[in-house]
Amino acid sequence: MQSLTSPRYLKELLERHGFHFSKSLGQNFLIDRNILNKIIEGARVTSSDYCLEVGPGVGTLTRALAEKAAFVAAVEIDKRLLPVLEETLEGLDNVRVIHGDILKLDIGRLAADVFSGSPFKVVANLPYYITTPIIMRFLEEDLPFTTIVIMVQKEVAERMSAAPGTKDYGALTVAVQYYTRPRIVARAPASVFMPPPKVDSVVIALERRDEPPVMVKDKAGFFRMISALFSQRRKTLLNTLLASGLTDLGKEDLTHRLASAGIDPRRRAETLSLEELARLYNSIA
Ligand code: SAM
Repeated sequence: MQSLTSPRYLKELLERHGFHFSKSLGQNFLIDRNILNKIIEGARVTSSDYCLEVGPGVGTLTRALAEKAAFVAAVEIDKRLLPVLEETLEGLDNVRVIHGDILKLDIGRLAADVFSGSPFKVVANLPYYITTPIIMRFLEEDLPFTTIVIMVQKEVAERMSAAPGTKDYGALTVAVQYYTRPRIVARAPASVFMPPPKVDSVVIALERRDEPPVMVKDKAGFFRMISALFSQRRKTLLNTLLASGLTDLGKEDLTHRLASAGIDPRRRAETLSLEELARLYNSIA
């Protein structure tokens, strides 16, 4: 089989299948062997690994993963790609392609089924129109992943690894850094894709933490507060909390609680570190 990262071969393959790219499904296929290798190296894939890929496209990353891993399950929404994948993944007996929408599938059940409940790695070149909801699903659903290695839009990678007080710091940053340790693996210009997207990309690895870096009284409640605080970025903590319905405390009590937690109620959420956010939550929960 010819290399799937060869633009000429990819064109010929897609033409033969009468396939046209769908912009709305975020279809930008990888045509760069170097970046492909970096994704695989970044995920540190070994022969005992189970891998879940989101959006295999024509199977470029899927093939490379299958050559290294014990088993690869790949979820693709576009049924026009299924016959293409049948051709490009032929002969590989450690790959299963699942036709479905990653946002609607019961991923826990799928993983229990295809990986027999073993921990797995998520490795993907994500469709950019749903990057954040996909990441949030993996983080929030308590799925047994060990690492997520994904190609995302540069701006999303910056949000995931942002520091407090910067414009990129927000609810996604807090969720990613609560559950994982982000590490930039590689930067990728638009030219590594066919067709090239309008944005630059970054491969980022999110290594799952054994323990969260902060203790919160109730995880679901903490993340409800995070969502309320960062949806009103310009408001002070005090005003957002009073309007949020998250607490029955009045202005005076709330001011007192925040002050005794060592947090100035006039600050904005985006200036608080994860540790301060946890302290804030525990003081009002
Ligand atoms: N992995 C391939 C590569 O690296 O060349 C393709 C990556 S392309 C950026 C994203 C892929 O995700 C496309 O194949 C697209 O059809 C698929 N996709 C888009 N939305 C999806 C969804 N909700 N669930 C599963 N796959 C989806």
